[in-house]
Amino acid sequence: MAFLLRRFWTIVGLLLAGAAFWNLHTLNTTIVEFTYWRGRSITTSVANVVAAAFVIGILVALVIGFFREARRALRHLREARRTKRIQAARDLYHEGLHFLLLGNHDKARRALQGSLEKDPSKPNVYMRLADLAAQEEDFGTAIQMLQRARLVDERNLETRFKLAHYLKASGDARGAAAVLEQILEMDATNRSALREVREIHVMLGDWERAHRVQRELVRLSQHDRSAATQQAMLVGLKYELARSLMDRGEEERAEKLLRELVKAEPRFRPAHVALGDLLRSQGDSEGAVEMWQGAFRASGDVVFLSRLEEMYLAEADPEKILSLYRQAVAAAPDDLRLRLLYGKLCLRLEMVEEALDSLRHVEAAGVDTHDLHILLAEAHRRRERFEESVEAFKRALRLRGRVDIPYVCERCLAESVAWAARCPSCGAWDTLQIRGRADLDQARQSSSHLPARVYHDV
Ligand SMILES: [Zn+2]
Repeated sequence: MAFLLRRFWTIVGLLLAGAAFWNLHTLNTTIVEFTYWRGRSITTSVANVVAAAFVIGILVALVIGFFREARRALRHLREARRTKRIQAARDLYHEGLHFLLLGNHDKARRALQGSLEKDPSKPNVYMRLADLAAQEEDFGTAIQMLQRARLVDERNLETRFKLAHYLKASGDARGAAAVLEQILEMDATNRSALREVREIHVMLGDWERAHRVQRELVRLSQHDRSAATQQAMLVGLKYELARSLMDRGEEERAEKLLRELVKAEPRFRPAHVALGDLLRSQGDSEGAVEMWQGAFRASGDVVFLSRLEEMYLAEADPEKILSLYRQAVAAAPDDLRLRLLYGKLCLRLEMVEEALDSLRHVEAAGVDTHDLHILLAEAHRRRERFEESVEAFKRALRLRGRVDIPYVCERCLAESVAWAARCPSCGAWDTLQIRGRADLDQARQSSSHLPARVYHDV
């Protein structure tokens, strides 16, 4: 229809042009000499000159139109071919992704590489190839793929994060940190990058840097739900920084940090323990005692008593720690943890009768833990009584080799013979508690309703 209409208008146009020419031809009969080249001319009517100019104009317009049309068609063809190629690359990418999820690495790799050949400009394809290589623990190829992806798209953050991740997985933690630092150069408030760079500093034991990064994270997260977690992490990292300063002999700065911690976080036990250790190493045993006793009075936590115990026994002054324990027991007669530890101390000091007294008190409150039985068995053994029952416990005792009450992490349940500020298993700070604390606390609650029972002898 449109074609017929166009043809119609063409015919109308030609007829009008013919009529106009005829009109001009009859009106202008003057003959002129028209020079079109140096020395060359023709003699014709004015109407003919005008008509010739008109026809030449139309011809020029047609030629220009033809070339323009041809160029457009060529571009269109090229565009169509490109679209087809990109579509094929996209299809191959999705096919590769599908096989990657199915775990068919060969087919996935073939599809993804095919996609890359058709269209090498998509960072996603490089990332999936990197994932594939990483799944086969070929981190070299994974890293190479991501470096190529970075060249394709400079601003793509995902490729950078992935690059950092695989550099770290390949053991190049410093390389990973450098990539994350580049992200932070573009945006200093990128919390994902801050968190990951902090993890690397923690892994490398670079507490100075980890602490600095964490301060930034605390500042950025102060108005959201992670604020408390981030603050707890800052406390832990500040503590580690103080510890590392102590190890390096920078005691002044370490003391300053620890005093800040003790003041700001009075319930954070590691800072109190470390500050006491620092004072002791500086020869200020009295300061350490004051520190730990104060912390014990405020918290009732036996970690401080254990610390005092180690110190006094090392200084061959058992009377002091005994009297400290006795005072504590007198002040809190229902604290079974205290009695358990007091029993253990008495055993260490060969005060078997007093040890038995204290341990039986714990037993009478209904506590039924492995550690209590071990201690009781050891006490009985030293008194050379209850041979048969003691024999069974002696076996258990020999297995462990020494009389110890292990600590357990309340977060990951890992056990540890010695108390530590940081769980060696999950890395959380201040989570190590004496094993069986829940049992002891429960028994303490129920025993406080009962009249005190004292077992002098069996
Ligand atoms: Zn743990």
